[in-house]
Amino acid sequence: MEILWAPWRMKYIEYTKIEKEEGCFICKAAESDNLEEHLVIYKNNYVILLMNKFPYNTGHLLLAPRRHLSEFSELTRDELYNLAETIKLSIELVKRALTPDGLNLGVNLGKAAGAGLEGHLHVHIVPRWVGDTNFMPVIANTKVIPESLNDTFKRLRRHSDVFEALNFSMR
Ligand SMILES: [Zn+2]
Repeated sequence: MEILWAPWRMKYIEYTKIEKEEGCFICKAAESDNLEEHLVIYKNNYVILLMNKFPYNTGHLLLAPRRHLSEFSELTRDELYNLAETIKLSIELVKRALTPDGLNLGVNLGKAAGAGLEGHLHVHIVPRWVGDTNFMPVIANTKVIPESLNDTFKRLRRHSDVFEALNFSMR
């Protein structure tokens, strides 16, 4: 079975087009109070966790600093801390809500590395199930995705109390 992280298979072209036409979707999600519309699972003053609207797999999440920046070197200590803690808790969230067999974590820096949204640094968190590589390319091109995105959103949100640990540690 293929278990390699394969960012070049992701549909980054859509994001490039959206960013050009409508601006940065991560910033828009960070500014909006409508969590459901932007598929936001969690956000605080430093980070935002949302679902990828062009998922590589069910439950594909994007974690980003709230500030629009593209380089790790620009991150403050607080942003780094919150990114790391949110990765930890997101793994917990995905395990509870979706019970995957494994997870991929990845960052694509620059277009050559497959970054679709270059301007806003983000970490991909992708749940994996044994055998999922076979049907992914098929479901990625069907209209099943919008409905299943909402279902997955609800399943993840139901377990979003895992992030209370982070809110508590920030007080
Ligand atoms: Zn942005």
